[in-house]
Amino acid sequence: MKKPYTVRELLAISTQYLKDKGCAAARLDAELLLGHVLQLSRIELYLNLDRPLTTQEVDAYRECIARRGRRMPVAYITGVKEFYSLDFAVTPAVLIPRPETELLVEKVVKLAKARLASGQQQVHILDVGTGSGAVAVAAARQDPEFLVTAVDISSEALEVARSNAVRHEVDHQMRFVVSDLFSDVSGTFDIICSNPPYLTKAEMAQLQPEVSFEPAAALDGGQDGLVFYHRIFQESQPHLAPSAYVAVEIGADQARAVAAIAEGCGFSVEECIQDYGGHDRVVVAKWA
Ligand code: GLN
Repeated sequence: MKKPYTVRELLAISTQYLKDKGCAAARLDAELLLGHVLQLSRIELYLNLDRPLTTQEVDAYRECIARRGRRMPVAYITGVKEFYSLDFAVTPAVLIPRPETELLVEKVVKLAKARLASGQQQVHILDVGTGSGAVAVAAARQDPEFLVTAVDISSEALEVARSNAVRHEVDHQMRFVVSDLFSDVSGTFDIICSNPPYLTKAEMAQLQPEVSFEPAAALDGGQDGLVFYHRIFQESQPHLAPSAYVAVEIGADQARAVAAIAEGCGFSVEECIQDYGGHDRVVVAKWA
């Protein structure tokens, strides 16, 4: 009988395979996927490099590596992505949460905590285009008095968001509404946040292979990438509490354009936050 593969051997073979397929972080991907199949953390893998694998385990791993070789994102293969130190369920119905979007959560939480500190009992937050619910759920986790409404045009996405709220035990603080931006939203909010689709037509035409697995509806911001900012700053107005904030994630070169849109709609732009790569990433606007 043939000697069974060990963790060490499989990692070496699959890393080389993924490298040949053009995966930028081939070793990491190989480890994450093997950890997923064996239900082990990466550290545990390293403590078990000589562990032999069963045929079933090898077959399951081979399937994962084949999918990654076709450049499917790791998160769609494992079904989870870490964001804001929480594990989020993801499916191809939702955008995979990006680390830079944590800056949006941080800002929303800061603004919301300031409301509580100034004596307000509860803070009403609206997340427009919630996708996996990463922003909404991560924010809700930070204080039981944050009441978060999460909306998305895709009911499939909203089901993923709801499952993430249940997973992190904040569903009682949240509402989920299928809505084309504000079309089916009622009530007013202290903070409205969004990571809308913001890629330009030119960017949509040359997506990384991985990104082309993600829902176009979560990426495509129209010709100039700005379609949703016009709509958000216009259509949010009936839903703003006094002195409300609107905080949006933006593409690296959109700060000036988005600030102009917000100001044209009667907001004052308070801040543009840069990400760790030094790119403009979040615009914060205040309603009079
Ligand atoms: N950050 C994503 C990307 O670069 C775009 C996300 C979005 O459009 N909101 O692929």
